Amino acid sequence: MSDIAENAAWDAVLRRDRAFDGRFVTGVLTTGIYCRPSCAARHPARGNVRFFADGAAARAAGLRPCKRCLPDDVARDEAAVLAAIDEIRSAEGTPSLAALALLTGYSPAHFQRVFKRAIGLSPAAYARALRETRARDALSDSESVTGAIYEAGYGSASRFYENTKGRLGMTASAWANGGAGVTIRWAVVETTLGKMLVAATDKGVCRLSFEEDESALRARFPRADLVEGGAAFEKLLAEVVANVEAPGSGAHIPLDVRGTAFQEACWEALRAIPPGETRTYAEIAAAAGNPKAVRAAGSANARNNVAVLIPCHRVVRKGGDLGGYAYGQDIKRELLRREEK
Ligand SMILES: [Zn+2]
Repeated sequence: MSDIAENAAWDAVLRRDRAFDGRFVTGVLTTGIYCRPSCAARHPARGNVRFFADGAAARAAGLRPCKRCLPDDVARDEAAVLAAIDEIRSAEGTPSLAALALLTGYSPAHFQRVFKRAIGLSPAAYARALRETRARDALSDSESVTGAIYEAGYGSASRFYENTKGRLGMTASAWANGGAGVTIRWAVVETTLGKMLVAATDKGVCRLSFEEDESALRARFPRADLVEGGAAFEKLLAEVVANVEAPGSGAHIPLDVRGTAFQEACWEALRAIPPGETRTYAEIAAAAGNPKAVRAAGSANARNNVAVLIPCHRVVRKGGDLGGYAYGQDIKRELLRREEK
């Protein structure tokens, strides 16, 4: 792991960030145990920690899995929760806990704990929130559910939010006004994909692009106060870089983007595409609630300000042709290659 990746990993451990579970394990040399990043046990001293790609690598180094966080069950837990969410979202009524547990192969009590740890709600409460928000707003159900979950205090990052909304659209009225009155911090960093520009307001990332410099940012936000770097920004920058170098959900990284309701629905649909999968413009248009608006979906894709984190590179032409990309097909191809399972 690079220093930046190690720092991002350690930050994730300190936050007990579930979005990083399954991406690495934390070995503690003094106790001989390895854990998920989100393990609830007391944090070890940084100097005693070594990061491993997975449990197998940690075991090869002589470590044992933690009995508390069961780091080797991450993939199975994740698959179980995603399967249950699919079932709840597509079912006519509310599936019983017993039925969901049966679907996943866990006991009902254990599955209830796994689901709640991942989502912050029990399966029944999740189904209820989904039903209520669907009734309230039939057009943007996924948006409202996530909003409700965050508002209820369950805002900790989780890759499971890929299915819903992440933190898209954190509001910025100044968006329509060239960034007037807004401070935007920015940096250009060298990555394995070339020079990458990252810019953020205090709400979240507002621009991620390749081969652009300050003048391009200035053209986009002519009235904003542009400031290079800054301590809080560096931390966000490290997370963004780590996410670009080793693609993950990125769902925990806050965004500050604004578009029309349909554009924002398209961006949500993009964020819902799991890494390693692709969609067509027609599928994005349908997911955004208007199957006929294929061209508008294409233009929403092109107006995406935040490459990679809103993964417009996961849209390809019908028939599998790679299609275009704002920063060239080479970068698109490489991003998709990194996400292959
Ligand atoms: Zn543990």
